[in-house]
Amino acid sequence: MIEMKNVSKWYGSFQVLNDCSTSISKGEVVVVCGPSGSGKSTLIKTINALEPIQKGEIWVNGTAIHDPKTDLPKLRSTVGMVFQHFELFPHLSVTENLTIAQIKVLGRSADDAKARGLKMLDRVGLMAHKDKFPGQLSGGQQQRVAIARALSMDPSVMLFDEPTSALDPEMVGEVLDVMIGLAHEGMTMMCVTHEMGFAKKVASRVIFMDVGGKILEDCSKEDFFGNPDARQPRTKDFLGKIL
Ligand code: ATP
Ligand code: MG
Repeated sequence: MIEMKNVSKWYGSFQVLNDCSTSISKGEVVVVCGPSGSGKSTLIKTINALEPIQKGEIWVNGTAIHDPKTDLPKLRSTVGMVFQHFELFPHLSVTENLTIAQIKVLGRSADDAKARGLKMLDRVGLMAHKDKFPGQLSGGQQQRVAIARALSMDPSVMLFDEPTSALDPEMVGEVLDVMIGLAHEGMTMMCVTHEMGFAKKVASRVIFMDVGGKILEDCSKEDFFGNPDARQPRTKDFLGKIL
């Protein structure tokens, strides 16, 4: 479903991704962790071409995103993305946030878009808030709207970049519960997160990135958490701090 082959990226002379290769199959949940500045956000953003790469190949559902001929808006509509800071449109109601891209990007009718959007809003437990504006919602609620918005586009894969790290602790659980539900339903997911409880519960694989933009580990959750002696010293060090 997603295939990255020898991906490297530079900002000027600074190398932010160094020869990264991995692949994600349908239904897999891959958790990406690692120290600040190691390139986790950059890695995940290359998948829907929010960040261009200078070397290597990225394939999403058989489409080469590094190919200049690829229709990027169309590709992006199949890849849902949820960021740390929700990024809802503040001047639009919850319902409008849910429908605008469906109408503008997918060409759905207003009625179809609304039906789909409200179904997704219901699934994240926020139907009662459909007419509110983002500023009238808690952080956890805004993030659940952001997830519903991404799901409304019928993505084949969902990317999450630290979706809970800007939330007050009591709101983290409600967002993780939605993500856990998605994982159990078989959604293909790549999640940058340091919520190791989430990783232990639903990850099929864990990727650990180290400073310099290198993928240092790419292994099963069982190997990552259960067999520390087989891990790289940097990984052990990181796990020692975070667990
Ligand atoms: P964090 O855990 O803090 O979110 P991260 O692992 O997501 O970190 P990135 O945001 O991918 O890391 O950044 C990787 C490196 O690239 C950092 O050193 C960062 O300063 C640098 N970087 C990110 N964006 C840019 C940019 N637009 N221009 C130049 N350097 C950048
Ligand atoms: Mg980041």
